[in-house]
Amino acid sequence: MVAGGDHLEECIGCGRHTQSGTALFADRRSTRGDDGTVIHLCGDCNERAISQYGRRLTERDMVQIAARGAGLGFAVGGPGAGAGPL
Ligand SMILES: [Zn+2]
Repeated sequence: MVAGGDHLEECIGCGRHTQSGTALFADRRSTRGDDGTVIHLCGDCNERAISQYGRRLTERDMVQIAARGAGLGFAVGGPGAGAGPL
């Protein structure tokens, strides 16, 4: 899939839009995948990742999460690894 849909800049964790002008824009983190695709993680998901993994996600983590396309909760430990309703 070619890089696209970047105008909405969806968070890889929750799929909400983080583009300039949204409430999520200020706290988001962005990085670039191996294929040049820009990846965004909103502040809420950043916080969630810290509580879930015990550390801040690296840019590498973000790339891997985006590559799996499953959102947060699948990057470390596999599905159901103590994941709560959030
Ligand atoms: Zn998010």
